[in-house]
Amino acid sequence: MNTDPACIFCKIIAGEMPATMVAEDEVTIAFMDINPVNEGHLLVVPREHHQSIASIPGSVLSHMALIARWLTAALRASLVRTEGVNLYLADGAAAGQEVPHAHLHVIPRWRGDGIRISVGRPATPTREQLEEMAAQIRAAAID
Ligand SMILES: [Zn+2]
Repeated sequence: MNTDPACIFCKIIAGEMPATMVAEDEVTIAFMDINPVNEGHLLVVPREHHQSIASIPGSVLSHMALIARWLTAALRASLVRTEGVNLYLADGAAAGQEVPHAHLHVIPRWRGDGIRISVGRPATPTREQLEEMAAQIRAAAID
């Protein structure tokens, strides 16, 4: 299994760093984020070290999504204030990825919690611009 001895999440998985666990299985661990953006913020982390989702096996990535869904239901049923949930994955430093071990954020939300996901938008594209970008993405897509 891929590991990186310098990686903080690999150290948590190896038991060398503390974390407040919520769930563990053979594929993933889920624990409380120590820098939460909202109360109850969880991270779902694959046991295998992958910096990007690009290298995560599909079965592992699917499992992460299923665990996130299960934790979303748990949050809604819990005493943690949860009127809604954001699932968030930052792939790459430019996207805000702070730990270079791919992970999925599960963030409880409620009306008026003050969190803003979107802070700026480019100008509204024309349909032609959308078609051109879609064609570029399709042309680069790898099966
Ligand atoms: Zn790691």
